[in-house]
Amino acid sequence: MYFENIDLDKLILRCYPDPVLRQPARPLTPDEISKNLIHLSERMIELMVKSAGIGLAAPQIGLPIRLIVVSVTGKIDDAFALINPELSNFQGVSEMEEGCLSVPGVHGKVKRSQVCQAKGLDLDGNELVIEAADLSATVLQHETDHLNATLFIDRLSTLGRFAARKGIKALENDYASQKRI
Ligand SMILES: [Zn+2]
Repeated sequence: MYFENIDLDKLILRCYPDPVLRQPARPLTPDEISKNLIHLSERMIELMVKSAGIGLAAPQIGLPIRLIVVSVTGKIDDAFALINPELSNFQGVSEMEEGCLSVPGVHGKVKRSQVCQAKGLDLDGNELVIEAADLSATVLQHETDHLNATLFIDRLSTLGRFAARKGIKALENDYASQKRI
């Protein structure tokens, strides 16, 4: 398990266009799930809440594994982790203004299913089924997209993408200048 010995304090938010965000995440094995995902999830929740986010996927901290944390209220008490999430039972359409901790400064409207069901495992390895609607459904779809290497900016309309182009370009320039240092 390659993330077993990771120093959790060193895990930081990765921002677009970091290549890890474009790497499809792999499922966690039963052996990995039975071990110490609790500390990793706690660290993810801490980073999410501190950054005023309502969801975070493991690739956003550099780990291409299928683990997400969500708190639609943004509070630690409401946060939960979902391992190997699978979405189904999509219904309806909703369009919400989205942002992403990995794409700071960029926002835009994204059309998603209004309702969905998320199935996965909790930190004890028990099956967790969530019937989600509206904001919860949007967050679960946004975070699951991260596991499939998709960002919300990929889902913007042509007009939305045009409006976001300066912010996206600024992030690309920031990343390129960090790389040079
Ligand atoms: Zn995101």
